[in-house]
Amino acid sequence: MTPCNNLGVRFVLHMSDNRCIYLDNAATTKVMDEVSEAAVYAMTEVYGNPSSLHRLGIDAERLIAYSKKQIMSALGVTSEQGEIIFTSGATEGNNTAIFGIAETYGKRRKRVVTTTVEHPSVEKAFDRLEEKGFEVVRVSPDENGEITAESLFEAVNENTCLISAMLVNNENGYVLPIGEAFQRIKKRYPDCFTHCDCVQGFEKIPISQKKLSADVITVSGHKIHAPKGIGAMFIRKGVRLSPLMVGGGQQKGIRSGTEPVPLIYAFGKAVEILNANLAERYNHATEINNYAREKLSGIGAVILSGVSASPYVLSIAVPNIKSETMLHFLEEKNIFVSSGSACSKGKTSDVPTEFRVPEKYLDSIIRLSFSYETSENDIDTLAEAVSDGMKNLAKIRK
Ligand code: PMP
Repeated sequence: MTPCNNLGVRFVLHMSDNRCIYLDNAATTKVMDEVSEAAVYAMTEVYGNPSSLHRLGIDAERLIAYSKKQIMSALGVTSEQGEIIFTSGATEGNNTAIFGIAETYGKRRKRVVTTTVEHPSVEKAFDRLEEKGFEVVRVSPDENGEITAESLFEAVNENTCLISAMLVNNENGYVLPIGEAFQRIKKRYPDCFTHCDCVQGFEKIPISQKKLSADVITVSGHKIHAPKGIGAMFIRKGVRLSPLMVGGGQQKGIRSGTEPVPLIYAFGKAVEILNANLAERYNHATEINNYAREKLSGIGAVILSGVSASPYVLSIAVPNIKSETMLHFLEEKNIFVSSGSACSKGKTSDVPTEFRVPEKYLDSIIRLSFSYETSENDIDTLAEAVSDGMKNLAKIRK
């Protein structure tokens, strides 16, 4: 089906029916109806520039203030404790946090610490710091595939200006002991700044900025049923970040550029809706995850995510079948999963090896990631399809 939009541009409608089983929510999510309505409202009714002094500008500013309040409340902070700065997403947020801190505070203290399981937007920022002469320490999981608070703490010394580590790993849902590690680090080295990429934890597991002891937190809208192209950073009062871009000085000069009010308002709406039922959704994800573990191990898949991982992500291996082969086999049946992480398209990720996944499974990893819409029926259909794939694709291999 190739419909035409009114600009005459042809596009292919892949999902003409809505009956697909979408199990790739860690890559991105479907926008909620109320959230897209909020975006349209801001686009069509509150279209003023928030920097304008007239009423339309002030109304737009109010929508931004609403969204800031939602995000602050979700992180358990108040405006006395710090700022919310909107970005284009977590890639920009992570870059701003890492380069911003390194530039402001890394003139003399040249040591920076991260882990070997970060998203590329953190990993590559640290590679660049290394090229600029920083001493980069990368903490790896131990022989059990665990990153301990102790190992993060031990990596920091008096010469360290920054530690950046994620809360929930995007490939397998592993939850890092950030609160324990950062609290110990802040107590012993109060001058070391702490940054946490909370993208896969935000609105999924309870997050408290205080418990995390994070000076800077980054989150992203499109992982929580808001549109793509919007993210936010919490920046604790007193932390000075040099901006990546210069311009009109919006958002305290940390992120110049006219604020995308429709995206910001939509993001705030999503946070408000999801924050009201975080616990119910968590329980639902836990049930789905447990059900999937049982069903899929029952048909011979190998469960790679640990039991204490975030219930929203389940990494499995289907022995002897390449990830992409299985992914496309499932796609034919309208089931959408991921091979490892979507961010590593065309490039294999080192993260499973870091987490000690046995070599024989490395080519066969499938990531399933759930939402409040995922049902046990979806998992039944998935398990049947995977089982089918194991029979048919194994035959092709012979
Ligand atoms: N960090 C993590 C842990 C992620 O999963 C992602 C998205 N894959 C990002 C950062 C980047 O977020 P964005 O797509 O908003 O730039």
